[in-house]
Amino acid sequence: MRQSEVLVRFSKLTESQKERIRREVDDFIAMNEALSGQRPECCPKCKSEYKLIGHGKQKSNQKPRFTCADCGQTFTYDSGTIFSNLKISKDEFIEICLDTLSLVPIKETAARLNRSVPTVHMNRHKFLAVLEEILDAEAALLSGTVEIDETYELESTKGKTPPNRKARRRGEPSKFRGISHEQVCIVTTTDRNGHEIFKAVGFGKPTTESITDTFGKHIRKKSVIYSDGIFIYDQLSKNTESKLIQLVGHESYNMVEHLNTVNYIHKMIQDTFKYYRGIATKYMNRYMALFVMKRRFQDMDDNEMADLLIRRLRTFQCHITRKSLKTSHVFAV
Ligand SMILES: [Zn+2]
Repeated sequence: MRQSEVLVRFSKLTESQKERIRREVDDFIAMNEALSGQRPECCPKCKSEYKLIGHGKQKSNQKPRFTCADCGQTFTYDSGTIFSNLKISKDEFIEICLDTLSLVPIKETAARLNRSVPTVHMNRHKFLAVLEEILDAEAALLSGTVEIDETYELESTKGKTPPNRKARRRGEPSKFRGISHEQVCIVTTTDRNGHEIFKAVGFGKPTTESITDTFGKHIRKKSVIYSDGIFIYDQLSKNTESKLIQLVGHESYNMVEHLNTVNYIHKMIQDTFKYYRGIATKYMNRYMALFVMKRRFQDMDDNEMADLLIRRLRTFQCHITRKSLKTSHVFAV
């Protein structure tokens, strides 16, 4: 469509429709401006923010090149970030990120961007993998009142025939009753200051070791831990010199002592799994990272979300390769 045709059509819209389009256009312009910056904020190797000397362009991709006067490293503005080796445009990648956070199905995103489903799938996983790395780098430390509890999801190889059992039909339950080795255990923990960690820790009931190994370094000493009364958190509370309060059943809850937040998170996780019709177990922890981020962004509109994401992704040095995308660690270590 030619620009003049667009203008003619635009003039035929009602005032409120025009206003909607104006807002969309403003959002796209703001996003493009945020993405177009070509001055690196710091050296990717030594993190020095001073004396980044610009000189010429990188031969292979014509990106402006810089040298750090402190350590001598040569780099472009997006070296080492998720944006450096994208095969699609940056704004398409951000759209895929926003759709992922809003749980838009891959097929819908692919149709809107006019890209293939495998392309959107791969870029979604790039985003999920970088989210996981961002959260690992943050190394959240929970303190004060800490809720911790576990939930279970049926193991899934999502479309591939599992090596050790007969394939299940879609929606078919496990042949084993209750919590068995076919259930993946997800442990979620949250404090009242917005720090959250969700991790898949293994098959079946978790062990004391898997809990202490995964969460021990993330809980500040002298906290108060609320759990649902099973013994696996005893050692965790000892190691972190925290007080463990066991709440058995809802009747033991009051205004302060409760597991309402983790219960709410479990409901969100279960609903999403239902909506996606299961998530391949090998990608479980990537989706756990998505849930943590989703909760941080839950009160923001798309524009605020895009702005924050771009700022974080532009400076974050990630270590994602084609190989690491395919061989995800199943469980937290
Ligand atoms: Zn440097």
